[in-house]
Amino acid sequence: MAVPQNRTTRSRRNMRRAHDALVAANPAECANCGELKRPHHVCSACGHYDSREVVALKQEVDLDEDAA
Ligand SMILES: [Zn+2]
Repeated sequence: MAVPQNRTTRSRRNMRRAHDALVAANPAECANCGELKRPHHVCSACGHYDSREVVALKQEVDLDEDAA
């Protein structure tokens, strides 16, 4: 088994972990419905992206009508 040649000091360990902090999410407001959404992602509430609908919502699709 590989064994570290030198002990990692508290200072070195803490310096390494200085970059480990989680960054907060940066939600943006949907231009269509105003719901908070992730930047550069389709709005999960209304399916719009860049002010146009790109994903139809589940309740808006009538599967029976398509089959007929
Ligand atoms: Zn939306």
